[in-house]
Amino acid sequence: MEKFDAVVVGAGPAGAAAAATMARAGLSVVLLERGEYPGAKNVMGGVMYGRMVADVVPEFWTQGAPVERVVVEERVWLATNHGAVSLGHRSPEMAFHPDGCPNAFTVLRAKWDRWFAQKAEEAGAFLVPSTTVEDVLWEDGRVVGVRTGREEGDLRADVVVICDGVNSFLVERARLRSRPVEPHELALGVKEVVALPPEVIEARFNLERGQGATIEIYGAVTGGMSGYGFLYTNHDSVSVGVGVLVSHLMRTRATPYDLLERVKQHPLVRPLLAGGETIEYSAHAIPEGGYHAMPRLYGDGVLVAGDAAMMVNGLHREGSNLAMAAGRMAGETVVEAKQRGDFSARTLARYAAKLEASFVLQDLRKYRHLPDLAERRPDLFGTYAELANLAAHEMLTVDGVPKREKQRRIWREMTRRRPVWAMLRDLYDVWRAVR
Ligand code: FAD
Repeated sequence: MEKFDAVVVGAGPAGAAAAATMARAGLSVVLLERGEYPGAKNVMGGVMYGRMVADVVPEFWTQGAPVERVVVEERVWLATNHGAVSLGHRSPEMAFHPDGCPNAFTVLRAKWDRWFAQKAEEAGAFLVPSTTVEDVLWEDGRVVGVRTGREEGDLRADVVVICDGVNSFLVERARLRSRPVEPHELALGVKEVVALPPEVIEARFNLERGQGATIEIYGAVTGGMSGYGFLYTNHDSVSVGVGVLVSHLMRTRATPYDLLERVKQHPLVRPLLAGGETIEYSAHAIPEGGYHAMPRLYGDGVLVAGDAAMMVNGLHREGSNLAMAAGRMAGETVVEAKQRGDFSARTLARYAAKLEASFVLQDLRKYRHLPDLAERRPDLFGTYAELANLAAHEMLTVDGVPKREKQRRIWREMTRRRPVWAMLRDLYDVWRAVR
C-alpha cells in the first residue's frame, strides 16, 4: 500500500487550504472528495473573505478566481411582518484592502470550490473526487490512514487532516469527539439562487458594475426562531435564504420551505426578487455550537479543521474564512511535523497553539456564550425588532404630536410590552454573550 505524507478528507475551503499549504511545501498529499467534483453539493450563503483566501493563494484576484461581486455595502434589517428598521455600512474603502485584495465577496460554491481545489492541485496535491472516506485506520493507538469506499481503498499517511464538514462522523471515529452533535448546536440553512439580469440587480440594490451588497434580516422572518434571513447579490443572480436552529425547527415543526417562502414574500424582499427565476434550491446544516461544542483539535496522526471542528462564527456569518485559516494552519503544522519526523499529538499540538494565537479561536472564545443565548432566547430578535419598528414608526409619523410626547408614548408602549427589569436583563444577557 502506497503511503503519503498526508491525506486530507474533504475538498471544501478547509481541506483545499490544508492540501495546498502542504503540497506547496513539497509533501505528498492526497485530497479526497466524495462529490463528483469539489463543490458539487456544497452550500453557502455565500460571502467569502479575501484575506484568508490570499493567505493560501496570494493575489488570487489576479488568477481568474470565480468572484461574483465584491461587497461594498452590508445591511441589517430588523424586520416585522410589514416593514423593517434598516442599519448598514457602505464605503468604497471597505471593498478592498490596501494591496488590492477584496475584503468580502460573493461566490457560488460549485464554481468556487472547484477553482480553489484546482489551486491545491497546481501546488502538487493529488485530488481524488467521487471518493467517500468511510473510516480512519488505527495502528498502535494512532491514526495511520483512511478507509475509502473504493475497492482496495485503504490509504496510509503520516497524518490525516479531517475537513469533512458539519456532522463529521470521522471526528468521532478519530476519537476526537465522544458524543454526536446536538440539535441546538446545529442550524439548518435553506437557500435559493434567483436569476436576474446584472443591470436589474445593480438598479435594485443601488450598485455599480461588479459591486455587491449583503442584507441580513432578523426578526419576523424566522417565525420566532433563532437565526436570520439573507440576500446576497451574485453577478447575475441573488442568493436568498434563511438559517435557524435545528432544535427550534423541531419544536415549532416549521418546514424550511415555508420559512424560505416567508423571507421571499416579505414586502421588502419581494420587489428585490420580482421577475427572477429560481435556478437552484439547496439546504445544508451549519455548525453553531461554538467554542464549548468543539471537539479536540488534534490527536496522534490526526488534525481536524473547519466545520468538522465547529469553527463557525454565526453572528458575523463567518465560516468559510475560519475553515480556510484553520486548514492552512493545520497544513503548516504538518509541514513542521514532517521536518521533525514526529507526528505525535505532542507535536501536532502546535496546531491548537496557532489557532489560539489567531482570530479563529479568539473569536470563537469571545462568543462562547452566544449559542446558549440563541437556544434559550429565540424571542430576542423578534421582540426588539418589534420595539425598534414601533419607535421608528412613532417618531417618523408627522401628525402634529410634539416629539417629547412621542418619546413618552414610545417608552410607555415599550415598557408595556417588555418591562424595564426584563429589558435590563436582556441587555445583560446580550452583553455577556458578545462582550
Ligand atoms: P465544507 O465546505 O462542508 O466542505 C466539506 C467537504 O468534505 C465537502 O466538499 C464534502 O463533500 C466533503 N466530504 C464530507 N464527507 C466526506 C467523506 N466522508 N469523504 C470525502 N469527502 C467528504 N460561511 C461564510 O463564511 N459566509 C457565508 O455567507 C456563509 N453562509 C452560509 C450559508 C449557509 C446556508 C450554510 C449552510 C453555510 C454558510 N456558511 C457561510 C458556512 C460555510 O459554508 C462553512 O463554514 C464552510 O463551508 C466550512 O468549510 P469546510 O471546508 O470546513 O466544510
